[in-house]
Amino acid sequence: MNADLVTLIHYGELSLKGRNRSLFEIELKQNIEKAAGGTVKRFRGRFVLEGGQRDALSRVFGVAWYAEAFRVMKDIESIKKEVLKCIKTRLRNNSSFGVYVKRSDKEFPYTSMQIADRIGREISEKYGMKVDLVNPDLSIFIEVADEAYFYFDRKEGLRGFPVGVSGRVLSLLSGGIDSPVSSFLMMKRGCEVDFIHFHVFTDNAKIESTKISKLLRYFTAYRRPVRIHLAPYYPFETALLSNSNSRGYELIIFRRFMARVAEKVATDTGCGALVTGDSLGQVASQTIENITLLKSAVSIPVFQPLLTYDKQEIVDLAKYIGTYDMSIESYKDCCSIISSNPRTKANACRIVELEKSINIEGVVENTLNLLSVREIY
Ligand code: ATP
Ligand code: MG
Repeated sequence: MNADLVTLIHYGELSLKGRNRSLFEIELKQNIEKAAGGTVKRFRGRFVLEGGQRDALSRVFGVAWYAEAFRVMKDIESIKKEVLKCIKTRLRNNSSFGVYVKRSDKEFPYTSMQIADRIGREISEKYGMKVDLVNPDLSIFIEVADEAYFYFDRKEGLRGFPVGVSGRVLSLLSGGIDSPVSSFLMMKRGCEVDFIHFHVFTDNAKIESTKISKLLRYFTAYRRPVRIHLAPYYPFETALLSNSNSRGYELIIFRRFMARVAEKVATDTGCGALVTGDSLGQVASQTIENITLLKSAVSIPVFQPLLTYDKQEIVDLAKYIGTYDMSIESYKDCCSIISSNPRTKANACRIVELEKSINIEGVVENTLNLLSVREIY
């Protein structure tokens, strides 16, 4: 058998034990097959992808790294022969090299050291290259597993957990810079992320031509279908306009209102927590007091993955994951209409009073009746 080309995939398994580990492996295998196509086989802590789209692996959470690899018969002579053949095209004058061996099949008659030594010696003799294990010009990685594999370059994956192993959450997506990043981070932690968005239109379909649609399409690269619940904010606006005493409290009441609607949607659709893009102290509505008020409006957990991030760190991450350009497109967000100057320490009793006076329960009910759900493939 000559060498054939496959993709070797490794995942970050170190912290996984028992049932979690097999769940992780099953989900990851499925997610790779969905994203890349081809056939995936597993052998002790690694996957081998035959065929499929290798580049798609850069968008699969749970992949630690992957490499285009040559698969050869599992005997020392075949490995040696094929490695030497492949190196020929990669030679530079007087270049140095390092051979790194991992032997997962402990039945294989040579230890990792012996394999590295034999193959390294042959390369030195045949091509006059020097061994340098610290900073070589050419690295040759060999793995002896179900079969033998060797490769020269690794590509970094996203790491994290495969989408699906950590349950489902509902992310409040505003379309700003923060909430797409917080949604991404929850996906990276293994969650299936559904979305809910409150908009200024009277018709949910109007969202089609906005950046919200673009962001949702972006997320289909990580999970399909992407599901979003759309809610108009006019029932809230109408109720609030009828109350002139709410100045300075509007944004906090609005955020508590969004959380209430989202909680109902989450419990009806099997989502165990809400997610927001809050970052402590970033704006007046995100003080400890106001975050406490937000959380006390609902009884399911509210996750805030960006709580400790600086704005610049969030911007950098948004650029890195590719959501930034969409996020800065202009868009009429409800929060920008409501109040640019909320109180940093809202009084809880006052909030509850105001909510009663606008019949917040009724407003939530009316909004739930106007909700629609979309799935994007
Ligand atoms: P972002 O960049 O995510 O818009 P922000 O700094 O503008 O965040 P806020 O507008 O106060 O902050 O919103 C805080 C969080 O509340 C958002 O990250 C998002 O999770 C949620 N949120 C705000 N507006 C909406 C909306 N129209 N629909 C759904 N969720 C929203
Ligand atoms: Mg916003």
